[in-house]
Amino acid sequence: MTNKRDYYEVLGVSKTASEDELKAAYRKLALQYHPDRNPGNKGSEEKFKEINEAYGILSDAQKRAAYDQYGHAGVQGMPGGAGGFGDASGFGDVFSDFFEDILGGGFNRPGGGGRSTRRGADLRYDHTISLREAFSGGETTLRLVRHTPCSKCRGTGAKDGTAMKTCPDCQGTGRARVTRGFFTLAQTCPRCHGEGRTVEVGCPECRGQGSLKNTENMTVRIPAGVQNGTSLRVAGAGEAGGRGGQPGDLYVVIHVQEDKDFQRDGDNLYCETHLSFPMAALGGEIEIQTLEKPVHINIPPGTQSETVFRIRGSGMPHLRGSGRGDLMVKVIVDVPSRLTKDQRRILSEFAQTMGEERIGSDGRFFKKVFGKI
Ligand SMILES: [Zn+2]
Ligand SMILES: [Zn+2]
Repeated sequence: MTNKRDYYEVLGVSKTASEDELKAAYRKLALQYHPDRNPGNKGSEEKFKEINEAYGILSDAQKRAAYDQYGHAGVQGMPGGAGGFGDASGFGDVFSDFFEDILGGGFNRPGGGGRSTRRGADLRYDHTISLREAFSGGETTLRLVRHTPCSKCRGTGAKDGTAMKTCPDCQGTGRARVTRGFFTLAQTCPRCHGEGRTVEVGCPECRGQGSLKNTENMTVRIPAGVQNGTSLRVAGAGEAGGRGGQPGDLYVVIHVQEDKDFQRDGDNLYCETHLSFPMAALGGEIEIQTLEKPVHINIPPGTQSETVFRIRGSGMPHLRGSGRGDLMVKVIVDVPSRLTKDQRRILSEFAQTMGEERIGSDGRFFKKVFGKI
């Protein structure tokens, strides 16, 4: 136990580092050496344990004071400290708090990550828009149900004028000890949620929670060119934090509906239109009503069915940067299914000028394939 490295040195911070500095240093190192990112690497695993142990001590005001005064001897046997129970003690709630945060990143997780205050939970809101709305972007109003700080107690959870008192369950440490088999584990105190303090007299309006459930309208800007599944983060618009804690974030997940006229692939749009066969043969011009404005396509004489015309810059706006994708228009040449007597006569005459096909005595076309007639 005497060859342990100095905890400040382990985290690469000074002896006067603030709580935030410690946290930032821990986050960075823990991410770097996390076993999930370094599978089978013994060195990183050891390093990771060391980092956790150091942070477990230094992030706790009492333990940090003991360590500052007496060094490793001062914190020996403490959960999260020197000479604990190997992994179990070092990987207490400090670990889970952070790794939900860093690696999980999920929605609707309970507030965590803070030592003295509780951060509010993130919220997810699913919002469906049309392809046209995705094209133009713009503002939309969402009806959101969430907890916001109680106005009566200004989010403190304490009745006017009453103070906070040390949590009687954990004596202010914010951590409770639970025995599992041979091990004693430290976890966040359920009574004060790790704050170490509870309110003396709870605010009657919010029952001491510091927040109340509200329904409110929120305006969110949807960027033009948004993709299906894009998640828009609105910082601080999630659930209120516990007494004075930071609010969580709101994630608006965009679902873009299929359009009846246009298919989308990335920022390119695809559509189909029909041409009469005289137009395909003789050429002409067609008008396509795009998501924005009509565009004209010049059809050259002799256009074949299924020809694709590319109209540059008439697709979806690029979400990042300027410019747009392209619009691909596939033309389908229609063969008339019904002819008047006159049309039939004209077509027959036309066919004869082609010289390839002959009309039999019954008036039907006859063509011999692969060989001379
Ligand atoms: Zn209140
Ligand atoms: Zn407590």
